[in-house]
Amino acid sequence: METNNILENSTSIEILNHIDTGKVCHAVLDFDGTISLIRDGWQNVMVPMMIDILMETPTDESHKQLESTVVKFVDKLTGKQTIYQMIQLCKEVQKRGGTAKEPLDYKDMYNNRLLPIVNDRIAKLENQEIKSEDLRVPMSLEFLQKLSTYNIKCYLASGTDIEFVKHEAKLLGVAEYFDGGIFGALRDFSKFSKEMVIKKILEDFNLHGNELLIVGDGYVEIQNAKSANAIAVGIVTKENNIYDMNANKRQRLIRAGADIICPDFREADQLLTYLLNL
Ligand SMILES: [Mg+2]
Repeated sequence: METNNILENSTSIEILNHIDTGKVCHAVLDFDGTISLIRDGWQNVMVPMMIDILMETPTDESHKQLESTVVKFVDKLTGKQTIYQMIQLCKEVQKRGGTAKEPLDYKDMYNNRLLPIVNDRIAKLENQEIKSEDLRVPMSLEFLQKLSTYNIKCYLASGTDIEFVKHEAKLLGVAEYFDGGIFGALRDFSKFSKEMVIKKILEDFNLHGNELLIVGDGYVEIQNAKSANAIAVGIVTKENNIYDMNANKRQRLIRAGADIICPDFREADQLLTYLLNL
């Protein structure tokens, strides 16, 4: 796709749509893949678990066939709450003549499998074996600091369970910048979605779309942004998974309607200069 590089080829920031700039006063950010790398590689846990579960059904499909099915639907549902991937798993179990557990049971099973990896990273962070910046998307903290300098109210909205998001945001040193609040998945999944967070902000502050900025690496938040006429910035962070999932992330974010695409926040100054008419 041809991009209008208003920034005169000096940066890797791509401007895809004409935007009414200079009005942003609120920003909603996604967490995993946009700010945090603590859960990076989660697909390497979710996919094998789901294949194991589907192997227990009376299906005669091979491991490889099941893998291809699982990779497809997990990938497609990324960015929504985890429970939606588990709801699809239940359907796939039933389709193959198996008896499915509750989606929440599968979600607990997944969290239990992912926890040791997450906890290991957190432990290394706490005993300073790794630095918090190693588990943050490059310059994401600095980006948040800049947003707060310009009095932009920030909100964190994640499909990961709220208690994990709050804890991990604190560990990464970013929690304090979300003066608008931190939102994440709840046990009752009907009570949270990124779309609901966005709608509430628009209503509470009686905003026009161009006053709200949405920043994320998932097509879900980009689509949500576009249906609210907000400005959508897609972050094309690389994902570490063995299934090559999200390899076409940039194209996918563009297809979802991203107005701007950038690889991370290393060019935050240029991005904000453009967005805020500085
Ligand atoms: Mg994400």
